[in-house]
Amino acid sequence: VTDLPAPRIGAAGILAPRSVALIGASEDIGKFGGRIMHNLLRHGYLGRVLPINPRRASILGRRAYASVAAAPGPIDLAVVAVPATQLREAVAECAAAGVGACILVTAQTAEFDEAGRVLQEEVTAIARRHGMRLVGPNCMGMINPAARLGLTSSLTLQHVAALRTGRVALASQSGALMATLFMLAHDHGVGFSRMVSVGNQADLDLCDFLEALIDDAETRTICLYIEGLPDAARYVRLARAAAERGKPLLAVKAGRSDSGARAASSHTASLAGSYTDFAAASRAAGVVVLDEPEAMALVAGVLDRVGEAGPGGIGLIVSSGGGGAVTADRLAARGMPLAEYGAATRARLEQRFLPRHVNNPLDLGSHKGALAFDVFADAISAVAESDEVAALFCILTAQPLLPETAALLVDTWRRATKPVVVVLDTGSFAGEARDAFIAAGMPFVTRIDDGLRVLEALFERRRTRARAATPPERPAGAGPACATDCPAGRLDEHAAKRLFATCGIVVTREAPVASLAQAHAAAQSLGYPVVLKGMSPTVVHKSDAGLVELGIADAEALTRAWQRVTAALAATDPDMAPRMLVQEMASGALELIIGARHTAYGPQVMAGAGGTRVEALGDVAFAAAPLSVADARDLIAGLRIAPLFGAWRGRAPLDLEGAADALVRLSWLAADLGERLAELDINPLLVRAIGAGVIAVDGRATLT
Ligand code: ADP
Ligand code: MG
Repeated sequence: VTDLPAPRIGAAGILAPRSVALIGASEDIGKFGGRIMHNLLRHGYLGRVLPINPRRASILGRRAYASVAAAPGPIDLAVVAVPATQLREAVAECAAAGVGACILVTAQTAEFDEAGRVLQEEVTAIARRHGMRLVGPNCMGMINPAARLGLTSSLTLQHVAALRTGRVALASQSGALMATLFMLAHDHGVGFSRMVSVGNQADLDLCDFLEALIDDAETRTICLYIEGLPDAARYVRLARAAAERGKPLLAVKAGRSDSGARAASSHTASLAGSYTDFAAASRAAGVVVLDEPEAMALVAGVLDRVGEAGPGGIGLIVSSGGGGAVTADRLAARGMPLAEYGAATRARLEQRFLPRHVNNPLDLGSHKGALAFDVFADAISAVAESDEVAALFCILTAQPLLPETAALLVDTWRRATKPVVVVLDTGSFAGEARDAFIAAGMPFVTRIDDGLRVLEALFERRRTRARAATPPERPAGAGPACATDCPAGRLDEHAAKRLFATCGIVVTREAPVASLAQAHAAAQSLGYPVVLKGMSPTVVHKSDAGLVELGIADAEALTRAWQRVTAALAATDPDMAPRMLVQEMASGALELIIGARHTAYGPQVMAGAGGTRVEALGDVAFAAAPLSVADARDLIAGLRIAPLFGAWRGRAPLDLEGAADALVRLSWLAADLGERLAELDINPLLVRAIGAGVIAVDGRATLT
């Protein structure tokens, strides 16, 4: 549609409005329009408040107006929370009165039923015709603490004296979640720059706000709660932009399970999309993906206020030896290394601890001599200043000298050039320390789980930075030309393998044949033993249909195999002339599957345990394409079958490098094919002993 007027306001303007009209404003805190009015006044919104209510001259001491049209402009925002039956009229009035954007709190729209979907489309069309923007419907408004604007009906805002300001922003599809996270974060001393809930995303969507937050000078760390992304490719572009600007981006996405996906759809009318596609693309773009919104808010609060992790491992300090051992186990299970203390660090610690107690984790309680505060001070600075430590992780339980230790940690955090992550794990016992942290603006969490998540995020960000420093390199012989003239449609095994061979992947030597005589000639030139396969356009799993004959030793066996496969082919496609493949009998010690797909987020590769048991094992991992050799190696090394690559029962280790190389080549092919690629895979890729490489013995591809 060409002749739509320019938008009256953008996402950034909506997040920091100069005036807000509240349709249905009331004094009754039991009503929506009352709660939001109370929230607006309690926190002293710095812009103009315009209560709209035809039956009242004033509300809570503010002059009320009979209609939006009667209120003095310009009106940046109007909050609309009327019942669905009155929504069309309210939006039309706002549009006519020149309102910049409406926040539509009204629910029972597209997420509810067919009539609601039609209504949502109608009001969106009205708004677009006027250049008025919409947030929602089915949202809960927004919070901008710097503007002292609590534009939401949530009663949580009645529980805080002041909206805590900070540099963390949240864009959430769920409104109630926004209020929950606001409160939780508040209790942990985490302040926000902006919070917005987008609901059904009829007009402005999560990405519009993400874009605004990336540009927002008040925001450093961004959290997203996602149910569905209308434009996944834009999300990936914006995530990369956030990374380039050095702004940590954290995301939680619903729809990981089938039931989660269904719930997301009835919640904000979003199609959740594939979670694995989302996770792989997010990680590649440097997004910290978490599985819990509450943890996201707390992790963001810490990431926002600590530096990035440099080289080295975690320096763990605990005030309980037992807790330390368990935490060390949990760090190891998540693949996070503890620092190995070198001579200099050990020497410092040995002034206060016996050599056998100088460990990582360091138990503060195991010091020499009498308890003295200096012991804690020396131990914490020795670890914080250790060259081997990338991040200090300190778990405070109910210990003596807690307030003094807390003050010391504040000081350490202020001076540190590396992240200081503190868990204050003692409930109300720690009240004083907690208040001290909040007053000092020092980040902390109260669950060890969240501390582990912070560390995971820090290490993931470190990996992402390393990855950005060594971008994927195109291997020799995998030129973009490989992808240019391959035919569209479903490629059979032979055609697919020819395509893979052009990018430098080793495939079986083979020949397509149409008669037994040709088969004999082909086998002769390939050399026995050979494999005979029937090619059928309708069969996906050839061996299930009796179309694969392995280890054919001689001409006689080939004749018998030919007869069996001919019969099997006739059973699947009665009218087809026999088309078969004679190929070398390859050997290998392990079967992998590697593949690629074009997803809504861009091209991705997959690697997993291969052969005919793929589905049963479900041991697969995904990554964005193209990927570097190091990433390919990591992807394969993360599989459950990865230990099989090692030396094992007298067998030599297997060629992990060869497998990684094939995956990298496939990833470039996927990137080059772009949207033309539906899917392709090699299953199995036979992996041989180290140095002997890998070979593709089966392949398929579907191109559009
Ligand atoms: P499909 O997957 O369609 O059933 P494949 O061509 O993958 O058919 O063959 C099934 C199995 O037979 C493979 O997983 C592999 O174990 C084995 N196989 C197939 N071709 C060869 C070959 N050329 N050399 C050695 N083993 C093979
Ligand atoms: Mg196969």
